Amino acid sequence: MGRIDEDSIRRVLEATDIVDVVGSYLSLKRAGSRWKACCPFHNEKTPSFIVDQTRQNFKCFGCGEGGSAITFVMKMENLGFADTVRRLAEKAGITLVEEVYDAAEEKRRKARTALLVAHKKAAEFFHRLLLRSPKAAEARAYLNSRGYGADMAKRWQVGWAPDSSREFLAWARKEGLPDQVLIDSGLANRGERGDLYARFRDRLMFPINNVYGECVAFSGRILRPQENVGKYVNSPETSIFKKGDVVFALDRARGPMGKSGKALLCEGQLDVIACHEAGISFAVAPLGTAFTPEHARTLSRYASRIVVCFDADKAGMAAADRAFRELAPFGKDVYLVNLPEGDDPDSFMKREGKEAFSEMVEQARPFFEVRIERAKERGLLTDAAASAAFAREMTALLACMSDPVARDLATADVATRMRTTVNDLRSAVRTAGRRKGREQAQSADRAAAAEVSQTQPPVKMDRAVAVLCELSLQNARAQGLIVDRIEELLEPMRMLQGGRILKKILARLPSPDSPAAIQAFLASLPQPERDALNLLNLDPVPIPDVDRSVQEACSGIAKAALERHIASLMAELADPSTDAARRLELSKLSVDLKRLLGTM
Ligand SMILES: [Zn+2]
Repeated sequence: MGRIDEDSIRRVLEATDIVDVVGSYLSLKRAGSRWKACCPFHNEKTPSFIVDQTRQNFKCFGCGEGGSAITFVMKMENLGFADTVRRLAEKAGITLVEEVYDAAEEKRRKARTALLVAHKKAAEFFHRLLLRSPKAAEARAYLNSRGYGADMAKRWQVGWAPDSSREFLAWARKEGLPDQVLIDSGLANRGERGDLYARFRDRLMFPINNVYGECVAFSGRILRPQENVGKYVNSPETSIFKKGDVVFALDRARGPMGKSGKALLCEGQLDVIACHEAGISFAVAPLGTAFTPEHARTLSRYASRIVVCFDADKAGMAAADRAFRELAPFGKDVYLVNLPEGDDPDSFMKREGKEAFSEMVEQARPFFEVRIERAKERGLLTDAAASAAFAREMTALLACMSDPVARDLATADVATRMRTTVNDLRSAVRTAGRRKGREQAQSADRAAAAEVSQTQPPVKMDRAVAVLCELSLQNARAQGLIVDRIEELLEPMRMLQGGRILKKILARLPSPDSPAAIQAFLASLPQPERDALNLLNLDPVPIPDVDRSVQEACSGIAKAALERHIASLMAELADPSTDAARRLELSKLSVDLKRLLGTM
């Protein structure tokens, strides 16, 4: 496996509808022949993100992002080009022809597949045991005590890991899973004497899926309190599992999140399961780690409002503050569910019922409103010292907000609620923002430098070349006429900027009648050349007089090349080091060329 050939890319794009692809992430609204949504790549409240079904591409008029279904998935999922094409091919049921054999890439893919297979098999094994094994009676009883039966266990593929390493290893051998794969997947470890043992023993097993619903890790919960043993053990980080990246239940929640524009952020996996079982299908949770910037980036792609529902205790509040700090730079609305003190979603639902909980979620209010209300309830705003400390915390949080208008409104709101003057708070937020800005400037500079080195500016193109590129990608007849004249075009094209791109078009001849072929051709170009073409109008527009347009464009090329030639002669003439004989030659030549130009 290695590079994917252009024909395969074209077939994948032909079998893929960009409206389906984008629609599975965002809620699209029809606008004439096109579709509209709020752009997932920059922060906006009114949609300027357009999907064009005819051209099979998307374009954001706010931030300039644009491209094919492949580009969209690459950006949304942070995947490489080849992996994206493979994924879309799989969805469309297309077998890819991969051109160049790449040994390192092949090895990486094989290792990844082996880990995914091991996880898939293990999830099925644990699940079977939970449902059927007599030894899993305690695990089933535990689930029942939490109010869950076999239905929920099946929906979430909950399992039970046997209490003996021997049983797990015997199963793994029977399945033909090599020891090294068991170790690499984190399902087993090697002891001091080199013997293998299972990581998860006598635990309730929750599979953790990536965004495509593939099991990439497990979270194992103990069944009875044990000393010096954590309630949960998660898989270690592996090549398919990075804790800070994975959001629990995102594979199920991303559709509902896109449709409702909302994400419910819970603290733990059982909270999320409880929410989904209660019909709140846009609930997710980070995985046994604090909320990371990567989590924030992921959620903000799918939802414009993040509703935080953490435990109503001190630790939960601190975690909510942290989530706010990470989410605020993405300009999303952060809301808080005001659970009664000491409750978590699960305990609240058990006591008050599912409907009451859904209502709590519906009644979530803006972050600062709930945050200040709670501080008041706890008497944090009664004495001056505590008030000042609390104000500093709020100031630091306000300073994290990237949207200046929203920040100003929130600042005014917080000032009113805390009975301080708006101007004092505003200037405190500005100072905090500047301090934060200085701290971040350095790392941002580095990040920006790295990004710049990745995206290069579009290749410059002479206008005459651009016209020919447009014609040959817009209209099949024009393309044919231009190819017929390739001999006369080659020489002048060498003089002009962007000539290489035109040569590539004429060498590969992507069909202007097939948007997929055009997109596949664009996808195969290096980024600076692709961006140069994306700046042009590649719409399949009707051209009134194709023959004349091509004729004019071709003589435009000759003319532009001639002008460029004359300009270079004049530059040489202007150079004082040019000797007299050469000068004479140059001026004669330039007179001839100018005369020729006059006849064109
Ligand atoms: Zn945008």
